[in-house]
Amino acid sequence: MTDLTKSAAMGEGGVGLLSGAESHAAALCSACAKGSLLTVEHLSIADVAGILATTTRLERMAAVERARLLTGRTIALLFYESSTRTRTSFELAAKSLGATTTLVSDKSSSIEKGESLKDTGLTLRALGAEAIVLRHPSSGAASLLARVTGLPVLNAGDGMHQHPSQALLDLRTILLRLGRDASTVDAHALDGVTVAIVGDILHSRVARSNAMLLPRLGARVVLCGPVEMLPEDALGLGAGIAIERDFDRALAQADVAMMLRIQKERLAGFDLDLAEYVARYQLSAQRLAAIAPHAAVLHPGPIIRGLEIAGEVADGAQSAIEQQVAQGLAVRRALLARALGVQA
Ligand code: ASP
Ligand code: ASP
Repeated sequence: MTDLTKSAAMGEGGVGLLSGAESHAAALCSACAKGSLLTVEHLSIADVAGILATTTRLERMAAVERARLLTGRTIALLFYESSTRTRTSFELAAKSLGATTTLVSDKSSSIEKGESLKDTGLTLRALGAEAIVLRHPSSGAASLLARVTGLPVLNAGDGMHQHPSQALLDLRTILLRLGRDASTVDAHALDGVTVAIVGDILHSRVARSNAMLLPRLGARVVLCGPVEMLPEDALGLGAGIAIERDFDRALAQADVAMMLRIQKERLAGFDLDLAEYVARYQLSAQRLAAIAPHAAVLHPGPIIRGLEIAGEVADGAQSAIEQQVAQGLAVRRALLARALGVQA
């Protein structure tokens, strides 16, 4: 067993850091409804440009006009893992477009009694859901749901696999932060930009989605973390990716530093020396000021202050963390309109 397959098995039956056969099959989901967003691999650069353009149009639209776009449409939010930002922003995005939403979570539904993902999906469809936003601990769950229901499915995080809407909101945040055009992209939109992604890369669907998307737009991605959280074969995620184990050296190159939470829930059986981790990988105010005084700091949340990031950095002038949350709402509106085939 390689490190990758071992740690995948340790987690939740997901795939390892690289896309394996399962992920490839998911990517080929030919039966999936148009408008689904299962993985960033499905998105062409033109698709990404289209989503950004729609995001900008929706942002500029008067609220009353926006609220007519999905009137009478029903969107289900199906959450098998906890979430604050993703769930709330999808829900508020749907409501701001006039849609009716229903939230089904594992804590308050028959999921708790063991109802399968398939049966839950078919039930939601029978009740009139026209699209489903899904978060699930297993990699490939979004693709499965899309296949069995035939509905557009938006993957809001599946195991260690993908979190495509997060990568899109991170992209828009980066473009805005760097003063670039956030309404479109091409293969050179991020030329000359280095994004350091730091921490628990192995278990992070956010890291994987970003590492697969940003280099296609011209960015250099430098992955940084201890070997247990960042195996060498991460380089296989695609072109434009480098590994730098030394945080200070990674930070020195970075226009953007994306810090990640240690995913304790996916780290079963792994003994981590937290003090050592903090010493080597925490983004402290001192480190940031000394090494990257101009870099934008991103974090997908939830933030563990004092662990991967110091509180002062999260609250400081270089932090784009709240901007990311706001962009989550903006980008997810465009994704919902796209899912339901509504031209905005
Ligand atoms: N997991 C984070 C939160 O719950 C962000 C997300 O939902 O993706 O806030
Ligand atoms: N919110 C992100 C996710 O759901 C990252 C995290 O949970 O740490 O993948």
